[in-house]
Amino acid sequence: MSTLALHQNDDELETTPGAPGFATRAIHSGNKYAEETGAINAPLYLTSTFRQGNPGGFDYTRSGNPNFRNLEEVIASLEHAQYATVFSSGVAAITAVVSSLKSGDLVLAEENLYGCTFRLFEQVFKKFGVEVEYVDFSDPISLRQISLRKPELVWIESPTNPLLKVLDIERIADWTHRAGSSLVVDNTFASSFVQQPLLLGADLSLSSTTKYLSGHSDCLGGVVCSNSTIWNERLVFAQKALGLNPSPMDTWLTLRGIKTLAPRMRSHAENAHAVASFLKSHPAVRSVRYPFLKSDPQYQLARKQMRNGSGIVTVEFDFTLEQTQRFLRELSYFCLAESLGGVESLVCHPATMTHASVPAAVRNSLGIGDSLVRFSVGIEHSGDLVADLRRALDRV
Ligand SMILES: *Cc1c(COP(=O)(O)O)cnc(C)c1O
Repeated sequence: MSTLALHQNDDELETTPGAPGFATRAIHSGNKYAEETGAINAPLYLTSTFRQGNPGGFDYTRSGNPNFRNLEEVIASLEHAQYATVFSSGVAAITAVVSSLKSGDLVLAEENLYGCTFRLFEQVFKKFGVEVEYVDFSDPISLRQISLRKPELVWIESPTNPLLKVLDIERIADWTHRAGSSLVVDNTFASSFVQQPLLLGADLSLSSTTKYLSGHSDCLGGVVCSNSTIWNERLVFAQKALGLNPSPMDTWLTLRGIKTLAPRMRSHAENAHAVASFLKSHPAVRSVRYPFLKSDPQYQLARKQMRNGSGIVTVEFDFTLEQTQRFLRELSYFCLAESLGGVESLVCHPATMTHASVPAAVRNSLGIGDSLVRFSVGIEHSGDLVADLRRALDRV
């Protein structure tokens, strides 16, 4: 509990008094590889193989490279983890975790799940006998399912995509451990700055580094953090045995992005709050989801486990499909594109993009209607973003 109190009050998210703060660790941890030359930045190790018997213990880049190790040290330090393992994408990180299961094992997953995670479960791992059931973890009754079903893994995201449901990680971790299971938290929407799942009791904290951690929409990557030697061995094994390794270039770019994670996340959150507040008062808006709006029903829970509200705002307009599409075309700073978490603002229309393959009736029952729009608010000048939204709304 003491870690949570600090989490809430101290902008640097510290658990150990006197230890370097988050923004300092993001810049200074893990750069031992440049010692001999004095280079401020780590060199890029474009090598597929290594001379046997080298002091770093490297042998082949599929199973490790100095650039991976560098990034792993930094992310582990940011998330207060003993171990971090990097992968070629967020989906590769998910594949690594699920590949450690065997036929007959059960995953109890949150029903509002990232589309590609759902697809991996349903179209890939089910073929190999991994069972997956979906529940609404914001409903306390669903917590009892953990004790009753005793799954191998409990799988959640918080906040979720695209509805930004905030789940009580500490509480779910508690139920998970009492059932002898492991809790996986996909931390992509919050980022390591905003939320540190291992401190809240999660066993694995997984992120698509493609999003906020790299932050510039120029590379792909994934990472899994843990404090368990058993999990670490499984993940290192998956990295090399399944060929899920990233490229040295992508890990180098991700590390470069992470150096500015703290100021970027503050700016994303400030702008997202401005966008959410503007939209909330607009007559064409039916509802706004942003967990750090004081009026949001999950504000207290969000405050308990998140540093700030991160940069995603989800809005339901009072529009038809045609009007929604017109609005999206009229925006100029918000580019209609998949993905999120970059410095530039993007906008996504789940019904025709990320959730297009989901039948309309199912989408609607999940709350993903034709007028639902997800904004990934960038770090531009907030007045320009609000003016862009106002102009586009006026034209619909
Ligand atoms: C994007 C995303 C992923 C997948 O990451 P990739 O790097 O695109 O493979 C997983 N989970 C969430 C929540 C995401 O937003």
